[in-house]
Amino acid sequence: MDILLLGSGGREDALAWAMRQSPSCGKLLAAPGNPGIARWAECVSIDPTSPQAVVALAQQEHIGLVVVGPEAPLVAGVADACRAAGIPVFGPTAAAAELEGSKGFTKDLCAAEGIPTAAYVRTERVDEALAALHRFGLPVVIKADGLAAGKGVTVAATRAEAEAAIRAAGDGPLVIEEFLEGEEASLFALVDGELAVPLASAQDHKRVGEADTGPNTGGMGAYSPAPVLTPELEQCAMDAIVGPTARAMAARGTPFSGVLYAGLMLTEEGPKLIEYNARFGDPECEAIMPRLDGDVAALLHAVATGRLADIDPPRLKPAVSMTVVVAAEGYPGTPRKGGLIDGIEAAERVEGVTVFQAGTARHGSGALLAAGGRVLAVTALGDTLAQARARAYRAVDAIDYADGFCRRDIGWRELAREQA
Ligand code: AMP
Repeated sequence: MDILLLGSGGREDALAWAMRQSPSCGKLLAAPGNPGIARWAECVSIDPTSPQAVVALAQQEHIGLVVVGPEAPLVAGVADACRAAGIPVFGPTAAAAELEGSKGFTKDLCAAEGIPTAAYVRTERVDEALAALHRFGLPVVIKADGLAAGKGVTVAATRAEAEAAIRAAGDGPLVIEEFLEGEEASLFALVDGELAVPLASAQDHKRVGEADTGPNTGGMGAYSPAPVLTPELEQCAMDAIVGPTARAMAARGTPFSGVLYAGLMLTEEGPKLIEYNARFGDPECEAIMPRLDGDVAALLHAVATGRLADIDPPRLKPAVSMTVVVAAEGYPGTPRKGGLIDGIEAAERVEGVTVFQAGTARHGSGALLAAGGRVLAVTALGDTLAQARARAYRAVDAIDYADGFCRRDIGWRELAREQA
């Protein structure tokens, strides 16, 4: 089976690596790819958000599976175009990607299906939103309805803060919701249009600074599994949240196909949905891919063709993983580009380590340069999180990249628990 992978980040490098390890993977193309992905795939410079360009390339190359990494091609209708052309695609249609694209859509679906989530109201205007505030206690959560790259959410501790967030957002769709108390965990499930099966759990670290301080980022590190999501809680989340969502989407004529990433709050009343994403998280994907056992390409193809019921459920190695993101100085503000990176081979000589590339470019001289905010996603497997962490940081220290920095405390909450 020849495969076309769309995207150019660390998530896609991990997906490309997993495809390359898969016995069923023949030729592997990536559009546009990056120098890390080029280790496993032939990179082709087409626009991955252009449905016409993707379908034309897939037809010309007799592609048997298109794997979509980021959300932009999904929103642009690339998966719709592939399906219309009869090309199996791992990723939802634009209509099904509304689960990520509109928080209001997802909240209404939860309300209609009895899926546990925070109590909420949807509003359209500032005066309406201000008037709705009295229905909630404090803290209260104010969310912009559409895709806001993680920046559209305010957890307001006081009324004044809530009012300021509403005024700052201005007229337009908002979701105002009850604050949920508990620990957060991410559950990644595969959905083939009807059936949903759990793949893996993970936890990420959004803040740039150690001890979870400073501004939000795309993610500074992750580990998998998230032990707070016990097998019982995972089953509960599948039965009460992910399964009913998959069935409701199918019943509405907009079946979801791909990976459904559920952000959960583990409350005293059980898991509740905070939000859905319609693709893998980055860097959670880098932490999850090395844990998967078996033919991952065949698994994604079964998702794309609605045949999850016909194959064995996803298998995981008896290992845990940690991903440490190395970012360019200045990130998440203005990252310094062009810094020289060396020592990736030395880092990968550390047992269990793979260095995925997120924002890199190859200079004409052959040198590897930083070309983005998040530059590398250094991932290690281990028997315990402490071992994975020791290996990941040994690998980070083997890399020579003067402009880079990373958080030194990835997994700190869980490691404290493991030690206790
Ligand atoms: P979202 O973009 O919906 O995932 O929200 C971003 C972050 O805001 C989440 O990861 C949570 O940490 C926090 N958050 C969102 N909604 C709630 C809620 N209802 N209760 C508590 N925290 C929340």
